[in-house]
Amino acid sequence: MDIVFQWLLLTVAVAVGWLVGRLGGGRTRTKIADEESVKDRMQFLFTNYSDEAVDNFVQSLAVNKDTVSLHLSIGRHFRNKGETDRAILVHQNLLARPELPPRFSPQVTLELAMDFLNAGLLDRAEALLQQMMGDREYGRKASQQLIDLYQQEKEWGKASDVARALTKDDADPGMYKDLAYLTCELAEQSLARDDRWTAQKLAKEALDYDRSCVRATLILMKILTRQGSYREAGNQGLKVFNQNPDFGPESIDRLMKLEHEHGDIGRLVKKLRKLYEAYPSTSLLLALVESVERVSGRPAAIDLLRKELEIRPSVRALLRLVEMAGYEKGMTTDEGRLVSRIGLLILANRPVYRCVSCGFSGQQLHWLCPSCKQWETIRPIQGVEAE
Ligand SMILES: [Zn+2]
Repeated sequence: MDIVFQWLLLTVAVAVGWLVGRLGGGRTRTKIADEESVKDRMQFLFTNYSDEAVDNFVQSLAVNKDTVSLHLSIGRHFRNKGETDRAILVHQNLLARPELPPRFSPQVTLELAMDFLNAGLLDRAEALLQQMMGDREYGRKASQQLIDLYQQEKEWGKASDVARALTKDDADPGMYKDLAYLTCELAEQSLARDDRWTAQKLAKEALDYDRSCVRATLILMKILTRQGSYREAGNQGLKVFNQNPDFGPESIDRLMKLEHEHGDIGRLVKKLRKLYEAYPSTSLLLALVESVERVSGRPAAIDLLRKELEIRPSVRALLRLVEMAGYEKGMTTDEGRLVSRIGLLILANRPVYRCVSCGFSGQQLHWLCPSCKQWETIRPIQGVEAE
């Protein structure tokens, strides 16, 4: 190792040790500044020296309370770069050293579990995380990682057991939402076996965890429809708008189908009008127009659609207007055909849903975002080319 390199690493190690000492008693502002300074120094180290050189350094660096942070930063750096083998070596090396102060052991174990998770070694990650669940300082983080792992494996029962344990001593509303959605997964599984009784019990349990859980309400709507309780199923569909109007478009198609097959259209028109005034969306407008057409005829429906398009333009509603107006005149004009063709081209392959948290988009509704792994963050897109 060249002398400049050794000197630099020694400086970093000493600085980290000094900072660790200071972080204990410093004010928040000082902490942030110090942490940024460590990051800068680490960045300097990684950009100026090869990974092999850093590996050698880790092997030769003493393990004590002042250097643990440095070991951990290096391990994390390798993991973030996707070099999980190296990260695992760093963390295993730390745990194997008898000089590691015992109080750092849970933190290093958690880091190692995250390496295993990233490497896809899920059994090993699971074993470590389960072992850490009761830790006072890192237990919560370990439990959350364990939930992520079980979600990845679609082990909904195990994930909900861990989430339930977390809600016992934790009033985090986010955890109740997770628990509600995990319970919905179990309800869907029961429904797939046509075990409606268990599915209904689980959907209600999900609503106890989180009253705004749209999915639980849609599951109840499905169960009630299968049971032939159409009016109650309709009430569940309407409830979605109060829970989270962003998901109104998800309910409206089901609601229309239900009312067409079993309900009273006149009653629906009144409700749709009220809902549209409160939560305007293209799906809702098209449903309202369809209902108005059935009750009051096509000219009234066309008038309504034209008026609303002026206020709230959308490609889907425009296409519907062109189609309806064309039929009304008993012909379809060349211009009408052209507008339809271009409109359909605009809509083809457009994402319909987007995650409000990470921006992931697609044409299918995922209740659990495949990208940021959060529940209920993927929603119908609003705007001229969407809702
Ligand atoms: Zn996301």
